[in-house]
Amino acid sequence: MPGPYTLSEGCPYANNATSVQVRNGSGGGLVLLQDTQLIETLAHFSRERIPERVVHAKAAGAYGEFEVTHDCSDLTSASFLNTIGKKTPVLLRISTVGPERGSADTVRDVHGWAMKLYTDEGNLDWVFNNTPVFFVRDPIKFPSLNRSHKRHPRTNSPSADMFWDFHTGNPEGIHQLMHLFSDRGTPASLRHMNAYSGHTYKFTKEDGSFKYIKVHIKTQLGVKNFDEETATKFAGQNPDYLVDDLFDAIEKGDYPKWNIYVQVMEPEQAENYKWNIFDMTKVWPHHDFPLRQIGQLTLNRNPRNYFTDIEQAAFSPSTMVPGWAPSADPMLQARMFAYPDAARYRLGVNYQHLPTNHAKVPIYCPFQRDGFMNFTDNYGDDPNYVGSSLRPTTFKTESRVGTNKLSTLTEHEKWAGEISSFTSELTPQDFEQATGLWKVLGRDPGHQDRFVSNLSHNVAKVTSSDLRLKVYDLFSRVDKKLGDRLRSETEALRT
Ligand code: NDP
Repeated sequence: MPGPYTLSEGCPYANNATSVQVRNGSGGGLVLLQDTQLIETLAHFSRERIPERVVHAKAAGAYGEFEVTHDCSDLTSASFLNTIGKKTPVLLRISTVGPERGSADTVRDVHGWAMKLYTDEGNLDWVFNNTPVFFVRDPIKFPSLNRSHKRHPRTNSPSADMFWDFHTGNPEGIHQLMHLFSDRGTPASLRHMNAYSGHTYKFTKEDGSFKYIKVHIKTQLGVKNFDEETATKFAGQNPDYLVDDLFDAIEKGDYPKWNIYVQVMEPEQAENYKWNIFDMTKVWPHHDFPLRQIGQLTLNRNPRNYFTDIEQAAFSPSTMVPGWAPSADPMLQARMFAYPDAARYRLGVNYQHLPTNHAKVPIYCPFQRDGFMNFTDNYGDDPNYVGSSLRPTTFKTESRVGTNKLSTLTEHEKWAGEISSFTSELTPQDFEQATGLWKVLGRDPGHQDRFVSNLSHNVAKVTSSDLRLKVYDLFSRVDKKLGDRLRSETEALRT
């Protein structure tokens, strides 16, 4: 039972539903500035929203555990992976990307998969998606991409013209567009959805060796998707359909589970591989790099309070543990800056202190202190500068930064080259895997038909005939017949 009611500074108070008024008989009266309860209640209400995430605003979240199922000591020295059966608590937040926090969650969109593993060597964040690739490979395009999927600056409404103008102007995203307009663009349930790291990461070992990896998270329940018509119907009937589905299943004890796999690539293979493995628009084909299971994920507990547990959660690819390291994917490198920066803006500079973000291991980082909303002991009188001889800092292991086995910044990669602008120039290679996916859809009866229908209903909203021609041309480069069908079905919808 909660304690007796008080004001926010602790004063016991006898009534929470009446303002203090100078009354004239039984009629209305004047409220008083001295009514602290009224003033504080109104003032707090005006401030109870924090900035919504610019992307990934609409979400569901839950707690669970990651369990190691297979030995992977040959791949990484990460402590949370070092023993079969070892369990690590996790928080998972699954979102759409473009639409706002109150939007319908069954609309066609990529779905974000943000997972915090509270390991015994600090937090590891997996900030993934339900697609294995992405729309762009140069991070400078990230804000433009997202704005083109959002509201038009004049009409305040999403615009097919803006969407397709961006994508025909930045066609390296064709592979991701193929994923988006397939059935997987409208999952029927978050429990029946896969997720992928997309980026290449590294598993590292204490001896300084490393391997490149990509992570695959596959639902044990099987993938299930809505067709466009059903997804649209649910968007109207219950805009929180996917949120409710996940919450209700967990509440009933029907815990969703996923298998966690990695694809593994040796550094020497990466140098000679036919595709740039740091290009986020490409997958590693399964037959070249088979999946190897490392673990299993179970969600088993709903949040007690959505705001404190999920809305205040902050995830970033820069949140890492020893044994796990970033690759030279430019998108990943840029996200490692942008995500914590977004959290500092949205939640404040001390966002790591919030209970949902706080590591489950002791933190000792006295060289970052003070700042707004610091509600820790702020390291008391510990030195606030490095190199103190008065009270020296101790380390878990003594070694140089960079080769420190506890550091994620291992020294095994040597980079040298000319400074130049990263190029997103299109090559025929950019269509190869998009064509591969078109063929994969062909294995599932009716899927290619649904794909053309999903896409044509979207492209039919494009007002400019020149722009529509560019879209047909883009998809003709994936498959000539696909382009032709898209053109005829789209133009038929416009007549
Ligand atoms: P395979 O021919 O070995 O297998 C195809 C894979 O496609 C499946 O394993 C499945 O991945 C995935 N898939 C099946 N149906 C769909 C769908 N409707 N939408 C999206 N993905 C689907 O694959 P390859 O590795 O040779 O790649 C062929 C194409 O498959 C790629 O161009 C890529 O677009 C797609 N794909 C590849 C992935 C990879 O990492 N190699 C991952 C996902 C898709 P899953 O079991 O993960 O659902």
